[in-house]
Amino acid sequence: MIAAPLLSVRGLTKRFGGLLAVDELDFDLSAGEVLAVIGPNGAGKSTTFGLVCGAIQRSAGEIILKGARLDGLPPHEVARRGVFRTFQHNMAFKGMSLVDNVLIGAHRRFKGSLFGVVAGFGADTERAERQRAIELARFVGLGDWLDADIATLSFGQGRLLEIARALAGEPKVLLLDEPGAGLTPSESVRLFAIIKEIAARGVAVLLIEHDMHFLMPLADRVVVLNFGRKIAEGTPAEIRADPEVVEAYLGNIAKDSTGAGAAHAAG
Ligand code: ADP
Ligand code: MG
Repeated sequence: MIAAPLLSVRGLTKRFGGLLAVDELDFDLSAGEVLAVIGPNGAGKSTTFGLVCGAIQRSAGEIILKGARLDGLPPHEVARRGVFRTFQHNMAFKGMSLVDNVLIGAHRRFKGSLFGVVAGFGADTERAERQRAIELARFVGLGDWLDADIATLSFGQGRLLEIARALAGEPKVLLLDEPGAGLTPSESVRLFAIIKEIAARGVAVLLIEHDMHFLMPLADRVVVLNFGRKIAEGTPAEIRADPEVVEAYLGNIAKDSTGAGAAHAAG
């Protein structure tokens, strides 16, 4: 196992009215590690992401980055400290080029805020950041679309753009919410290599993903949620062999013979 955890979550709890969306959740994440969060639709995966990046205020619990509390901080401050997320759905800014969309992530590092940032940099910084945005676009395989209008990108390209934008913020912790959903097989292969490389560069990756074939060789560890509670944690092989996990989640996926349908059914 890798060194002391970069991110620690302790007793994290979120209630929406009477509903316990996340219930006393504990997990650790180290630099360079890929941790997958799986579980049925409504298990609390996206809420957990919202809590970690400050978009959702917790009901109870602690989120600690390198010994400092993150919980209670506003999202722009959490981002400034190096925790970035992508969303389950594409968040491209229409009418802007691909490179400008990637640059938004860099602005978040400086300013924290997502909106009203385009006037932000001095000329030298702007040049350096633009160059970096171009490199990141190439890194995710979008080098041929640098000046393209976002509207012309495929769905899968939009997913890869989301990752490039998050990387422009120079994350210490990167949260990817179903990054593989809707990708073509070749985009999926690309995504796999991208995530491996991001982790190899020392970023801690937290990943929501349903496709076990994708996860098995990618994740160092898996946390399984069901009704907001952690029901299992272990290596992908341990998780696949866990009777409670099979009962709560994987059994349903296995019954659906097509991988794509399974991902869909799981939400
Ligand atoms: P997952 O991502 O695992 O599918 P979510 O975290 O989106 O699950 O949702 C967990 C539970 O919390 C679900 O029952 C969902 O309906 C509920 N929930 C999520 N967001 C809200 C909200 N803003 N208000 C009320 N209930 C919510
Ligand atoms: Mg979700």
